Amino acid sequence: MSRDDKNIPYRDAFYLFCESPGAPREWMTKPFLSKDGKWAVATDGFSMIFTKRLELFDDIKKVDPKYDKVVSSHIKEIADPSRVIQTKEFDLELVPNLMDEIIYPQHECPECHGEGEVEWEYSGKSREYCSDFTCPVCDRDGTEGKPRKSGRQIPDPNKLFKIENVIFSDLQLRRLLTCAQLIESKVIYNAVLNPKGANIFQVKDFYILIMPMSTDRGQKTPQIKFKKLGEN
Ligand SMILES: [Zn+2]
Repeated sequence: MSRDDKNIPYRDAFYLFCESPGAPREWMTKPFLSKDGKWAVATDGFSMIFTKRLELFDDIKKVDPKYDKVVSSHIKEIADPSRVIQTKEFDLELVPNLMDEIIYPQHECPECHGEGEVEWEYSGKSREYCSDFTCPVCDRDGTEGKPRKSGRQIPDPNKLFKIENVIFSDLQLRRLLTCAQLIESKVIYNAVLNPKGANIFQVKDFYILIMPMSTDRGQKTPQIKFKKLGEN
C-alpha cells in the first residue's frame, strides 16, 4: 500500500464535514487552510473539523479573510491547555432511533401533469373567467398515489439526542461516528460540554466542533449511553 492509499480513509472522513459540491457557499465545499497555515479546516456551517495533518490535502488554499476570525477563535479553543478532556465512547446504535421508511409515489398526476395546479374556468354573463387552483386530484403534490410504508426501518434524521445536558441532532452525531469508523477509531474524546456553544470532540488527530441544538421542543430526548472504554 502506498503512502497515499493509507491517507484515503482520513481524507474521506475529513470531507464528510464539507458542503456538497455545487452548494451556494462555494468556499465550504472543500477544506481550507487556517490563517497561520498550520491547520486544515472544513465546515458546512453546523460542524467544523480541524487537523494538522496537512499531508492529506493537495492544493489547499488559505481561508477567506472574511471567515478567518471565527476559524481562529475555534483553533484557540482546541489548543487551550485548560480544556478538560474526558475519554468517553458512545454508540448511537445503542439508542433506538428507527422510523418507518415512507415511499413517495413517482408517477406524474394525470390531471395536472405534475404541475400541482389546474386551471378553472367560469363562464360569467359577459365574459369567461379563469384562474389557477390547487389540483383536486393530487392536492398540489403533482404525483399520483398515496405515500406508503416500505416495511423497512431507517434512522430518523430529525431525532435529537442528549449527551449529559446538551442536545445534539442525530445527523451531527451520526456523521461524527461515521468519521470515527472510517479511520477505525471507535473512541471519541469528549471535552466539557457546552449547551450554548461549540462542543469539541476528538477522533485520533481530528478535532470536530459541533453546535448543539438550542431546544428539544419539549420532546423526551433520549440520553446517549456511554460504553466503558475497551468494551465492545
Ligand atoms: Zn394533480
